[in-house]
Amino acid sequence: MHRRIRRRDFLNGIAVSAGTLLTAAALRGADADSADPEKAPDYYPPELTGMRGDHDGIYRVPHAVRDGTFQIGTPIDTGEEYDLVVVGGGISGLASAHFYRAAAGPRSRILILDNHDDFGGHAKRNEFHQAGGRMLLGYGGTFSIESPWPYSAVAKGLIADLGIDVSSFAQVMNRGLYASYGLNPAVFFDKETFGRDALTFDPGGDWYTDTAPKGSAADQWAAFFAAAPMADAAKADLRRLYEEKKDYLPGLTSDDKKAKLARISYAKFLTDIAGVHIDVVKFLQARAYPLFGLGIDAVPAQDAWGLGFPGFAGMNLDPGFGRGMNRDAMRTPEGEAYFYHFPDGNSSIARLLVRNLIPAAVPGDTATDIVTTRTRYALLDEKDSPIRIRLNSTAVRVRHVGDPDTSKQVEITYVRGDRTQTVKASRCILACWHVMIPYLCPEIPDHQKAALASAEKVPLVYTNVVIRDWTSFQRLGVSSIYAPSSYHSEMTLDLPVSIGNYPCSRKPEEPMVIHMARVPCKPGLPSRLQHRAGRADLYATTFETFERNIRDQMVRTLAAGGFDPARDIAAITVNRWPHGYAYQYNSLFDKFWLDGGEIPCVVARQPFGRIGIANADAGAYAYTDGAIDQAYRATADVLVKA
Ligand SMILES: Cc1cc2nc3c(=O)[nH]c(=O)nc-3n(C[C@H](O)[C@H](O)[C@H](O)COP(=O)(O)OP(=O)(O)OC[C@H]3O[C@@H](n4cnc5c(N)ncnc54)[C@H](O)[C@@H]3O)c2cc1C
Repeated sequence: MHRRIRRRDFLNGIAVSAGTLLTAAALRGADADSADPEKAPDYYPPELTGMRGDHDGIYRVPHAVRDGTFQIGTPIDTGEEYDLVVVGGGISGLASAHFYRAAAGPRSRILILDNHDDFGGHAKRNEFHQAGGRMLLGYGGTFSIESPWPYSAVAKGLIADLGIDVSSFAQVMNRGLYASYGLNPAVFFDKETFGRDALTFDPGGDWYTDTAPKGSAADQWAAFFAAAPMADAAKADLRRLYEEKKDYLPGLTSDDKKAKLARISYAKFLTDIAGVHIDVVKFLQARAYPLFGLGIDAVPAQDAWGLGFPGFAGMNLDPGFGRGMNRDAMRTPEGEAYFYHFPDGNSSIARLLVRNLIPAAVPGDTATDIVTTRTRYALLDEKDSPIRIRLNSTAVRVRHVGDPDTSKQVEITYVRGDRTQTVKASRCILACWHVMIPYLCPEIPDHQKAALASAEKVPLVYTNVVIRDWTSFQRLGVSSIYAPSSYHSEMTLDLPVSIGNYPCSRKPEEPMVIHMARVPCKPGLPSRLQHRAGRADLYATTFETFERNIRDQMVRTLAAGGFDPARDIAAITVNRWPHGYAYQYNSLFDKFWLDGGEIPCVVARQPFGRIGIANADAGAYAYTDGAIDQAYRATADVLVKA
């Protein structure tokens, strides 16, 4: 555990290339004096390891603006004028540029500003190279095309325009790979919570990898209980929860039951209504992390029912959605069937959008070759290009030139390096986080500013760990590990997808990207306070702390399979997202969502003069299609202005 990880170690006998050894801090330090760091020949953010996602440095300016300590002074006027300036280079900002050009014509001049060193927002690519050629990809944020609700015609149309054939997913996914090695989803119990460390198969399952534990249900429960460090009463309760068909609220109508379940957490339902042992709650605590960024203490019981969690089979609830359900719990078969995963997640969508906007920057022709295409960052912001993407640029003020009612122009002030500059545009779309907008545009009406400020963000972390082989997973017979109370609550082998020239790791002797997820919430608090506490936690946690926890967790989980962190870990990228998912309304904490009333995101997204408002926040829906739909609406909003 305490030996140094030598990242220059050999992977399959081949040294890791120098590219993976760079850190973001090193890059930014090296380029501190450069006016245009993106023009440097070695500028290639996807290869950076260490702390990524919201990487170091991006908060300096926004937090100073928030705290009122930022002095704009007299900005430099670049003299640049555009038809449209978009603030935010995530999927919503890129899609806004796409829709605007489609409507206003190919000669439209558009500038996109983003504060990160890479475009894509949450949809980020992690790239790892072995000397000798092999590239491994990971998703730094957005995992896949998936949404509980069906994609709209607009969002589907954009996906099709980009050349993505969602229906071909079955051909690119090697669904039987892990099953062919006898691997199953597993659960890791940690000694701090359950008394001892233990790894056993997970009765919750995992549809992605199509693995099915062998034997009858009774055999499976027996095997699970033999290994699980839970009280005997908890084991009996857990099985009861999964198998018994009991109505825990007899005498109530389905609607009345749903109304009651909308007002209590799933954890409370389990302990106070279903009467289960507290170890069952501990075991299920992190089941909703990937969707809610919250434990079951803050997930409404009605939503747990919608998500198919155990305990509701005998409650005779009508299948229709209940009032106040979280949009994640309103799952539709059509929505669930529309699924596609690129090895770098939806970063490939962002890259296809950029190819479409600035073809020279992302060479190639198809949604297949995109996977291995290298972005030419130096070409993103070319003077003669009608569409430009300016990275490392934080907007600090967006205001109309003159009276917003009659003004013909918007002035956008942004910080790039140590310079504060302005550009002007006929229209502006703010596709950035809503919480930032009141600081950028003080002239927006107070009521709308309050609605914008209420858009909480859900913090989470996607860590990618490259290991030199996955024989330890094979020996232990595990493909994905749910760890309800560990530092990272998920540890999974990469989804085995091969697209174009990019092959997935097919043999246990080959290197592999392990995906780990951490949700820094604070159980017991209301949802928004949990997210704020989690965000503070992420700001305060160093990469070294992450690394120590990753090694500790991996060795405790996998050592019995022969895993040695000092030997086996080749690279770590921690994708930190303090401003992660758009907040989705929750019946326990958002009264208007359950009882009716003004919906904040609707108030927040109203256009103001020549300024339109996009971003997934505008729909309070944390999905790619939400970001696209809001881009489409915001584009229509600004196009109304002559
Ligand atoms: C870890 C993670 C996993 C996810 N997985 C999925 C998934 O599998 N499927 C799915 O459909 N959705 C997923 N989502 C949600 C999805 O990624 C988002 O809904 C969508 O990508 C949001 O896009 P956006 O453009 O609205 O916002 P963002 O991606 O947040 O982009 C906004 C951009 O604006 C920038 N910005 C903010 N303020 C300023 C400023 N003042 N100046 C300049 N730039 C600024 C931000 O830094 C950011 O780059 C995931 C999200 C996260 C965080």
